[in-house]
Amino acid sequence: MKAECDHAVDYLYQYIDQELTWSRRLRIRWHLQRCGRCLDAYEFESRLKARIKQCGNDQPPQELFDRIRALIEQEAAGNQDG
Ligand SMILES: [Zn+2]
Repeated sequence: MKAECDHAVDYLYQYIDQELTWSRRLRIRWHLQRCGRCLDAYEFESRLKARIKQCGNDQPPQELFDRIRALIEQEAAGNQDG
């Protein structure tokens, strides 16, 4: 995995929560446009977040995020065909 991807994934949550500075958001958006893997992760995360919001639960268990994060990392690790 490229270092760029590491950073993009690191910032995904903050990106979705709109907690980043505009310059960082811009960089991540740029990366997502060029990197299908990170885009997949982003779409997954944002869909999950939207669903959690729909359920009216503002504070999902950290365990859930940890598990999802592990899944994404696994996926990325087993998907190095580029
Ligand atoms: Zn990437």
